[in-house]
Amino acid sequence: SELQMNIDGKQAAAELRATLAKEVAMLKTERGITPGLTVVLVGDDPASQVYVRNKVKQTREVGMVSNEIRLDENTTEEELLATLAKLNSDDSVHGILVQLPLPKHINEETIIATIAPEKDVDGFHAMNSGRLLNGEQGALVPCTPQGCVILAKRHLGDDLSGKHAVIIGRSNIVGKPVSILFLQENCTVTIAHSRTQDLPSMCRQADILVAAVGRPEMVKSDWVKSGATVIDVGINRIERDGKNKLVGDVDFNEVSAVAGGITPVPGGVGPMTIACLLKNTVEAAKIYSK
Ligand code: NAP
Repeated sequence: SELQMNIDGKQAAAELRATLAKEVAMLKTERGITPGLTVVLVGDDPASQVYVRNKVKQTREVGMVSNEIRLDENTTEEELLATLAKLNSDDSVHGILVQLPLPKHINEETIIATIAPEKDVDGFHAMNSGRLLNGEQGALVPCTPQGCVILAKRHLGDDLSGKHAVIIGRSNIVGKPVSILFLQENCTVTIAHSRTQDLPSMCRQADILVAAVGRPEMVKSDWVKSGATVIDVGINRIERDGKNKLVGDVDFNEVSAVAGGITPVPGGVGPMTIACLLKNTVEAAKIYSK
């Protein structure tokens, strides 16, 4: 049935959080460490506020310390840099996350480069992307890409070697890092983007198809090989029949009829992203705690 083919990201995220809660308890009793995450939010973008609230809540639920620092929309870059300098040198803070996007007058690259790499739980610092690319130990890996691999494995089992993974999208936060992760899993990887020629036939070759584009329901059923595993990263707000709706980059109704497994939106990659943020915070505390 359709339901059985759904790759349940909500359930997978709950399982990961349960594992993390045990690890956190062990870190406390065996090493006296309580992992701590601080989320910095600048301005009052409503979507960002919801994301931050969920991150803080879930961090606490697995037994970690979570603090939220809210800064005014008019905060200067210098003030934000000073806040980060304090967090960088605070030994009780193992993870620092600056919620993006930032107000236009603040340079995101400067901010990301200022977060101590060993506390960069978003994994966006060049030190972490470089370590990921080089296959080095100790990299903090971007959360959404990690979630994609976990969900693909949930459907296909742990061994992905030899599978052809086609990734649509090449952003620094999703497309590029998820491509590297599937490569590390010994997949053959194709990265497609807006200049790719004949995208549908490229996608039809995929055993694993990852859509990270930001275009509502772009991937149609005739783009997907029968039995393929489809990971839909897209989160698009659309209006349909006079109602606001959240849809992915994949036309779920069509594609679920041909795919072997597919992540729904919502309830697929989204919940895994936060769970992987918690995982990175535990990881940062385990490896780098002073
Ligand atoms: P992005 O930075 O806008 O990148 C989009 C990528 O898609 C670009 O590489 C672009 O190609 C490519 N693209 C655009 N139109 C295309 C087309 N017609 N055909 C082929 N490729 C096309 O977006 P992003 O930050 O990676 O996010 C992608 C989607 O994932 C968004 O819907 C976002 O909301 C969602 N997202 C979800 C989560 C989650 O937790 N589930 C996390 C992050 C993002 P070029 O490089 O050639 O321009």
